[in-house]
Amino acid sequence: MRIVFLGPPGAGKGTQAMKISVAHGLAHLSTGDILREEVDSESDLGCRVKDIMARGDLVPDDLVTNIIGTRVATPDCARGFVLDGFPRTLSQAEMLDEMLMQKDMTLDAVIELNVNEEELSNRIAGRTAETQGDVRVDDSVEILRNRLAVYREQTLPLSGYYETRGLLRSVDGMAGIDEVNRQIEAVLGS
Ligand code: AMP
Repeated sequence: MRIVFLGPPGAGKGTQAMKISVAHGLAHLSTGDILREEVDSESDLGCRVKDIMARGDLVPDDLVTNIIGTRVATPDCARGFVLDGFPRTLSQAEMLDEMLMQKDMTLDAVIELNVNEEELSNRIAGRTAETQGDVRVDDSVEILRNRLAVYREQTLPLSGYYETRGLLRSVDGMAGIDEVNRQIEAVLGS
């Protein structure tokens, strides 16, 4: 099974992608996690993307597409994979289609976590205030707002892209973790 997770920052994509990957024996590929590891290890790639990520902007399309292209070819992806945080732009979605076609692969489903944006902003602001006492809270909230704006402008159009291809499955991302998981399993037909 090959699945993509779509949803704004703070919607619980990572948590749900992890649960589904474990339950179905799929590799969990999070471009955010991979990029953070690069930043932490101070690799060339990490140094290139550090400031972009800190601002909450997107790193260049070719860079993340290369990362995913390399990853999906590794043995742990043979049974399938869950993409978490990729694709995030139409161009990445097109590159993913191209890449999968070359490997004779297709996507089975794109799970979209629907959220109420206002509630999400409040949730994110609350969480930031609680957990990042030593960081200037205004800055963090500002960055998260930017991440939401970037999502609206660059990632939201992917819903239509995948709906046209008959792959989009929407679930209520505002429900509790177990309920969201149940809805995802239901739309996957498992
Ligand atoms: P995430 O943990 O998925 O929210 O990703 C953290 C950050 O990594 C994002 O704010 C972007 O700067 C970068 N990033 C992750 N995935 C992508 C992607 N597919 N395209 C561009 N930038 C990405």
